[in-house]
Amino acid sequence: MFRSQDRIEVKTPAQIEAMRAAGLVVARTLQRVSEMTAVGVTTAQMDDCAAQSISDEGATPSFLGYHGFPAHICVSVNDEVVHGIPGPRVLADGDVVSIDCGAIVDGWHGDAAVTVLVGDVAPDLVELSRVTEESLWAGLRAARPGHRLSDIGHAVETSIRAHGSHYGIVEEYVGHGIGSRMHMEPAVPNYGRPGKGPRLVAGMALAIEPMVVLGGSGVHVLDDEWTVVASDGSHASHWEHTVAITESGPWVLTALDDVRP
Ligand code: MG
Ligand code: MG
Repeated sequence: MFRSQDRIEVKTPAQIEAMRAAGLVVARTLQRVSEMTAVGVTTAQMDDCAAQSISDEGATPSFLGYHGFPAHICVSVNDEVVHGIPGPRVLADGDVVSIDCGAIVDGWHGDAAVTVLVGDVAPDLVELSRVTEESLWAGLRAARPGHRLSDIGHAVETSIRAHGSHYGIVEEYVGHGIGSRMHMEPAVPNYGRPGKGPRLVAGMALAIEPMVVLGGSGVHVLDDEWTVVASDGSHASHWEHTVAITESGPWVLTALDDVRP
């Protein structure tokens, strides 16, 4: 059953275990799609791979039909930040490709994203992805009982800022609570001062998802009403994990490895 904690869903240990099952489907699907992401592959082929993977796992895709989204994953290339729609686009050498996947098992959601580098990618873009992933893990480490919600965003921002002022943190899109629905309270920004917001307790689950642009952080939505792009055309990276807060620390539910605290 749920207890209310400032409207944040608190799961039982058994429910967190169920979320781990969904998280593993997402992890394995992202691994399969990442492995086939290469020069000459279309983003629609990536979506087909994800659809097959989620189906083979006996799970349900979270994204397909979500507010009308027409695919199983989001694929965002280069200046596309998030919510890119798979289609006929053919990947080219040097592309920076973010893949975002959600899956449902027994009513529980997992949500994660990776950035994949296609072929020979410019060193500053390799670094962009590395810095973004590192900031995700800084945020994940802050997801523990006794901390406050804004400690997570502060950890993400601090990690990115440590690498210089040339990285823009997207503020219009944020992480979120997750569990019996994909998007729940609370919003989890990727910036902010520490020590604010609700206190984190065991049983909460959050999707932490820094979006970082190698340039200005301004973004806008394309005419397809989904694809979010960097307004100055800069490349972007997006990394995401679903994490459960447990008594003994963060449990990254969408990691392939079982790094249970
Ligand atoms: Mg996601
Ligand atoms: Mg998410």
